[in-house]
Amino acid sequence: MKTMTCKQMGGPCDLAFHGNSADDVIKAQDAHLKAIVANGDEAHQDALKAMRGRWKNPIKGMGWYRQTKKDFAALPED
Ligand SMILES: [Zn+2]
Repeated sequence: MKTMTCKQMGGPCDLAFHGNSADDVIKAQDAHLKAIVANGDEAHQDALKAMRGRWKNPIKGMGWYRQTKKDFAALPED
């Protein structure tokens, strides 16, 4: 298991997500962004927009995805 924070994936807070792969923590952050913005949080709106943009435009999002996978791979195991 590794830990990655919302901030490490371009978000504004230090909430930590745990997973065995970059996809796990990316999915956890997606859910976090949706939930917190649905609750009226403004600080996460840009990160949510960026996340939606990555899904809409996978070619453009690929750079972020590759970088996040690389960052995840470089993290120490918990
Ligand atoms: Zn956050």
